[in-house]
Amino acid sequence: MFGLLVKVFAILLALGLLYVTVKRALLGSRKPAEDNKVQTPPPAPEIEADDLIRCPACGTYNPAGMACSAPDCPTRQP
Ligand SMILES: [Zn+2]
Repeated sequence: MFGLLVKVFAILLALGLLYVTVKRALLGSRKPAEDNKVQTPPPAPEIEADDLIRCPACGTYNPAGMACSAPDCPTRQP
């Protein structure tokens, strides 16, 4: 009776390993812990550094297409 339990346990263990192996083969080399995560990459941060233009007069970075916002900038019209 005890030997039967060992055989059943061994079969279940083998099935579990087979399941993990097939799952990894289908999903690639990702770890099982990552399967529960959302597959989409995280959203990009709202920082738009590429759209900032450095003011040649005072060196302040401002959004592209907007006037310099520095109060003491020479290019700022009074
Ligand atoms: Zn400026």
